[in-house]
Amino acid sequence: MRFRSYALAVLGLVLVGLLASGYAVFAKPDYDRLNFLQRFVVWGVLAKWVNQVQTLPEENRVLVDYDHLLGQLNFIEKKVAQQIFSINPRELGFQGPFHSLEKPDNLVKIMPQAYQQSGKEFSTDIQYCPAASYNDYLKMMARMRQDLGRELFIESGYRSPGYQAYAFFLYLVRNHDFSLRKTARLNAMPGYSEHQAPVNNALDFINADGINGDDPQTPEDFEKLPEYQWLLRHAHQFNFYLSYPRDNQWGVSFEPWHWHWEKPVSPRSIACKKQVERTIGDGSIDSGLKGEKVKRENVMAGEEVFFPSSPFDLLAQLSGRSRPMFRRNPDRTVTCDCPAVSPNPVSSAQ
Ligand SMILES: [Zn+2]
Repeated sequence: MRFRSYALAVLGLVLVGLLASGYAVFAKPDYDRLNFLQRFVVWGVLAKWVNQVQTLPEENRVLVDYDHLLGQLNFIEKKVAQQIFSINPRELGFQGPFHSLEKPDNLVKIMPQAYQQSGKEFSTDIQYCPAASYNDYLKMMARMRQDLGRELFIESGYRSPGYQAYAFFLYLVRNHDFSLRKTARLNAMPGYSEHQAPVNNALDFINADGINGDDPQTPEDFEKLPEYQWLLRHAHQFNFYLSYPRDNQWGVSFEPWHWHWEKPVSPRSIACKKQVERTIGDGSIDSGLKGEKVKRENVMAGEEVFFPSSPFDLLAQLSGRSRPMFRRNPDRTVTCDCPAVSPNPVSSAQ
């Protein structure tokens, strides 16, 4: 009789313990720090994923499949990982747009590039990026070598949603003490990274001395580089823009190494339009016809902006005809000088 009561009591305690653990594991995460059991599970997830990613052939690591990674997890680990990635990143303070979960079909393979760090030789891992941005990167580096005798290598290009998930957990555990909020300021969730944008993708740079601004270095280490100062002045000529300056609107930390490429036509028009708006004052352009205002969209970077000077020009603009229809009016011409930071990365990146 006594034995039976003991057994029942123990069973009861085990059940209560299991219920409490289940509740703690699947409870809504505290964004500032996961609870003890969630930390334990997340740590286990990362250990499996590190093993999984590191044993892949190098050329497949940044392309690792999200479902493949989830397939390595047990029921509890999978639920916790899925629960974390189902959080709307805006709740964590990230304000950027969703990009894509699809793999671009025009990726170029970038072979490892060698650099020195503290006197030792290292090299970047194999990376990928869409052909258009890679070609502009090559042109940009040719110019940088000419101007500075220095260059930047691609430390991170395209990342699959799986690799982004892996990177998120890596920083969550190793760098941000299980704080989802802090992690989201530096590492986007799968689908939300500019490294996943199929066209206007981002590149992270590292210089030949191994400066990339990543822990234990600081963003200021990268900011001090002549290569960075050069990018600020010239990157836009090659369609690259700094995505995350200090105190940016996206809720992302200052990332001087992270530059995104923009398709040259409309996004640069937007950049230039902003420039024109600042010049003109109110976001519209005086048509010169009885004070009417005409909005101008089709302005290319580095080109002069012509203002319509006759009814013919105005009609051309209103009917959506292309810019060459405008006649030059030298008295009212502004040279468009695109800023290093695209004023509208949202529209450009989608
Ligand atoms: Zn980046």
